[in-house]
Amino acid sequence: MKNYQSMDHFWMPFTANRAFKESPRIIERAEGMWLFNDEGRQILDATAGLWCVNAGHGRKQIADAVAAQIQTLDYTSPFNLGHDIGFEFAERLVKHSPQGLDRVFFSCSGSEAVESALKIALAYQNARGKGGKYRFIGREKGYHGVNFGGISVGGLTPNRKGFGPLLPVDHLPHTLDVERNAFSKGLPEFGIERAEALENLLQFHGSDSIAAVIVEPVSGAGGVVLPPVGYLKKLREICTRHDVLLIFDEVICGWGRLGDSFGANRFDVQPDMITSAKGITNGVLPLGAVFVRNEIYDTVLNAAPEGQVEFFHGYTYSAHPVACAAGLAALDIYESEGLLERGAGEIGQYWEEALHSLKGLPGIVDVRNFGLIGAVQFAAADGSLVGPTIMKRCYELGMSIRAVGDIIALSPPLIIEKSHIDQIVDIFTQISKEMFR
Ligand code: PMP
Repeated sequence: MKNYQSMDHFWMPFTANRAFKESPRIIERAEGMWLFNDEGRQILDATAGLWCVNAGHGRKQIADAVAAQIQTLDYTSPFNLGHDIGFEFAERLVKHSPQGLDRVFFSCSGSEAVESALKIALAYQNARGKGGKYRFIGREKGYHGVNFGGISVGGLTPNRKGFGPLLPVDHLPHTLDVERNAFSKGLPEFGIERAEALENLLQFHGSDSIAAVIVEPVSGAGGVVLPPVGYLKKLREICTRHDVLLIFDEVICGWGRLGDSFGANRFDVQPDMITSAKGITNGVLPLGAVFVRNEIYDTVLNAAPEGQVEFFHGYTYSAHPVACAAGLAALDIYESEGLLERGAGEIGQYWEEALHSLKGLPGIVDVRNFGLIGAVQFAAADGSLVGPTIMKRCYELGMSIRAVGDIIALSPPLIIEKSHIDQIVDIFTQISKEMFR
């Protein structure tokens, strides 16, 4: 292990600093399903980086496309100029989004995609003379990035604490109910009753004050919270009835994670906007996008008086040509290797069976899965927090995972094979025996 005293000068993202300093985990190289650390050890990447490396690491096709793009057109302003690769990428992307969500607004990250979607929602309400609709509704345990709009609509209390006042937002109750639903396969059954909370919120505030509802189809960072049967459809129905926009944040759910290009397709629900990032470039370069319903786009665009800017919003690196090249190459791989559907097929089935085989092991109180996302939830008899210790032990045993409290979140690259899944199950089995006997 190298001496990383210089880490004092390197601000790790999020709050990882302290834990990381105690046991630094330095990754030198990555390929396929595997990370290789500075001790030459091979670590199974069971979270596809940070839910993003969906086609696996080290894809040469993407590297080549990026190198070629830098040499052809490295950058140009997205404000007054355009480039073919941006248009080509947008055209290819919308073949995957639900019909009618054919307009793409590019950002550079998931957080920025969320901010963009929230601003587009407000611009749309204003453009059609409904400026009184300025409030948002999010969901408990929802995660929508770290910018001010995102933490406002996000429903993870620690992320919001100390940053107020935030945007005017209410939160729907989350849909995790381990007591009622532990180890059930498929989606929980109590969808309609949970969605009705939206009706109550809209009535409380008056729906003429609500611009949009934003939810992740499956909440990832909140601990892999699945939508109960009929829940998302019911949200759609209520939003439509009350003239409120519905935004799906698919930064994690998109690009094959749930067994289709988007959760919207898999659940057969059409939101008004979808936010995307992460897997959109296979995590290789930062890029985000908002897929916008055409009528929203047209309304915002047409609202400006002749010669004026219709919606001042955009980033220096919106539709960065090199990121677009990475994204196009990633899309080629997803399509040609059939990765987007894998989670809904045989390997998704194997994933479900394998995770559910952990049922009954000491310390494990729930497993849940959908497509190629999953969670193993632990609980210590004395109620102490065990997630961080489990994460450390997983790494020692050759697997990288993400702990959300005592929930171990799993989102492997979509190229995963049965042998990798077996390895994941073996490691959890060993940890259960070691820690909870
Ligand atoms: N939305 C969701 C659902 C996410 O999971 C994340 C990131 N984990 C974000 C937004 C923010 O994305 P980024 O970190 O790229 O800003």
